[in-house]
Amino acid sequence: MVNWNFEETHPAIRMIKHFVATNKIPHAILLVGAKGTGRLKLAQLFAKTLNCERLPKPCNSCSTCSRIDRSVDFDVQELKISESNQKILIEQVREFERRAVLTTTSGKYKVAIIPQAESLTTGAANAFLKTLEEPPPMTKMILISPTIHDLPSTITSRCSVIRLPAVSDKEIDMALDSQAKSLPPGHRDLIKRFSEGRIDWALKMACNTNLISELVDLLEEFDSALSGDIVSKMELANKLGDDRQAAHEALNTLALKLADEMRIARKDGASQSLANYRLWHKNTTRLDQACLAISSNTMLKPTLENLFLGIS
Ligand SMILES: [Zn+2]
Repeated sequence: MVNWNFEETHPAIRMIKHFVATNKIPHAILLVGAKGTGRLKLAQLFAKTLNCERLPKPCNSCSTCSRIDRSVDFDVQELKISESNQKILIEQVREFERRAVLTTTSGKYKVAIIPQAESLTTGAANAFLKTLEEPPPMTKMILISPTIHDLPSTITSRCSVIRLPAVSDKEIDMALDSQAKSLPPGHRDLIKRFSEGRIDWALKMACNTNLISELVDLLEEFDSALSGDIVSKMELANKLGDDRQAAHEALNTLALKLADEMRIARKDGASQSLANYRLWHKNTTRLDQACLAISSNTMLKPTLENLFLGIS
């Protein structure tokens, strides 16, 4: 059975079913797992398990389930990060809390989901503690984070933790089999090589040929610019240097490309070469530093120029 859509055998689902069956639903749950492993989908499924109109099992088709899937249900609130600074600010938490404790429209549960809890500022995390400690009886909180260490212990100690394991290559294969049968072999191979256990990403790519074309184009651009002269490297920095978010995403793709090349080199036996490994390590370290610099609002274009000139 494929796990990506959280069939009943998935350990996280079994845990949630156990909470509901024993009527011991924690007031706060922390979902821990890598991006793309279906964390938000699981949080929404949990909300459906509480509020679906056709329980005992969420039907995925009633109007409540459908609204939850589209993130527009009044009783299931999602706290999004601020686009401008990629953080969750104290004022956002206060407004979110105010809405989260209102009476439900369904008479069932209020569910408050924080999809990127790692983005809470210290002030916002502190402001959230009291509600997390003593939410109203019919309010449930679900926090989502890549690791448990991204959140202060004052938050994690108040949550029941559910971990989402990375999705295996085999599971991604099975999901592609069921969702994207007609995918050309070249695209399928590319998606598998770049998915890194992110099943959401793999399926999104598989269903949209434009996204695959964009990925192929970007990889070709990296290939040609990074193996080219100074001018071509500066041109690429210039092209990516206008949009911080897009630049960040492009660098994530570059990191995956470097990892993919290393994997291929290992298959060919070239990993035995220490020089090869050192080069990969050096390039990856530069890339990590550039990503960090971009996140902390340094000048975008010079950071990209420095990176591309330094990568060899
Ligand atoms: Zn339903």
